[in-house]
Amino acid sequence: MTDCLFCKMVSGDIAPDTVYEDDDILAFRDINPQAPTHILLIPKRHIASLNEMSTEDVILIGKLSLTAKALAEQEGIAEPGYRTVMNCNAEAGQTVFHIHMHLLGGRPMGWPPG
Ligand code: AMP
Ligand code: ZN
Repeated sequence: MTDCLFCKMVSGDIAPDTVYEDDDILAFRDINPQAPTHILLIPKRHIASLNEMSTEDVILIGKLSLTAKALAEQEGIAEPGYRTVMNCNAEAGQTVFHIHMHLLGGRPMGWPPG
């Protein structure tokens, strides 16, 4: 997807503040952090939103959670606690239509979310 911001990060056209990368996943710091730790984890393959997820993506999406867990440990937020969020479409506030998991932590969080 040539017009996708996160695909441009995967291709190297835009350089994010990368914290982790492997063959399937890229993780980088959010440009507008909402918590002391705010990392975005994306699959390198373009999937627009959770609505476009299919059974062939199950392992990939599972890897996002496992990687979030590892990064939470690395960031020192595993024990105090953290939140993972995947916004889907307009009412949830999705603004970039390449699936991503937010990893947020380092401060107490309210519930329900806004
Ligand atoms: P969402 O609103 O769930 O689609 O999340 C998109 C996230 O991407 C927001 O938290 C933005 O701050 C973040 N974002 C947008 N542009 C960039 C960028 N160039 N580098 C890092 N994060 C970005
Ligand atoms: Zn994309």
